[in-house]
Amino acid sequence: MGIRETFKDKKRIVVKVGSSSIERPETGGLNYTKMDILVRELCDLKNRGMDVVLVSSGAMAVGRKAAGLSKKTRSTATLPENQACAAIGQSALMMTYNKLFSEYNHMTAQVLLTKYSVQNNLSRYNARNTFSELLKLGAIPVVNENDTVSTFEIQCGDNDTLSAMVANLTGADLLILLSDVDGLYTDDPRKNPDAEFISEVEKIDKKLMKMGKASTGSGIGTGGMSTKLRAGRIASASGADMVIASGDDMRVISRIVDGEEIGTVFHSNRDEDFDLVSYLDAIGV
Ligand code: GLU
Repeated sequence: MGIRETFKDKKRIVVKVGSSSIERPETGGLNYTKMDILVRELCDLKNRGMDVVLVSSGAMAVGRKAAGLSKKTRSTATLPENQACAAIGQSALMMTYNKLFSEYNHMTAQVLLTKYSVQNNLSRYNARNTFSELLKLGAIPVVNENDTVSTFEIQCGDNDTLSAMVANLTGADLLILLSDVDGLYTDDPRKNPDAEFISEVEKIDKKLMKMGKASTGSGIGTGGMSTKLRAGRIASASGADMVIASGDDMRVISRIVDGEEIGTVFHSNRDEDFDLVSYLDAIGV
């Protein structure tokens, strides 16, 4: 059986959407149509009996618009401005998700994390317990970084690493990263027409890490291929398969789960010796 055929039997799925997937680049406003389809897809997975966790960015984009800073971008605004916009935008983003999920009769829960929540033993224990209880209660946790007290994902992450940490904390068996890239290539396809698409990665080795590029080119999100490979390392060692795919059409979620040949799949290779805290320390996250 091919790896993709096993996805329909997964028990716990984490889906990550980057800012570029839910923001309209013309105005910085949210793309409600896409968010609606995203939510519908996730509710449908839930109705298949799977546990679902959503990791969503977009708080800064919503906040920038609300605070009248639309003329600025993530890179022209100061870091404190971005943080303030995230604080303003997070509640509005959550309100939108809450409304959409409740239209499909599903309950959400807001979870804001930082790397410190994972590095600190007591906070990690608490976060694991809360996720476990939320999933037991049937909620769909909606996760973002707590941008008020931490800026890692704002500066270089696009929530890629965060979503892999969430996969680890929740014991997920599949992580789907949706952004503005449709998968892994041997080189940057926008610059090199000979770049080849890689459909499956069995093991993330040093050669592959070198291949990862530092930019997605969208100007909206920040996560490049290297943060996605890092996420793949965490997910894989924690026992989750990972798929990188384009978030252009949110209907890919069910197509991926149904085993269609979409995006790049990273095989899980559970590593009993993998220690998330030491790994985060080592990569300087
Ligand atoms: N947490 C931030 C947001 O929601 C930024 C994460 C990201 O880089 O997309 O906007």
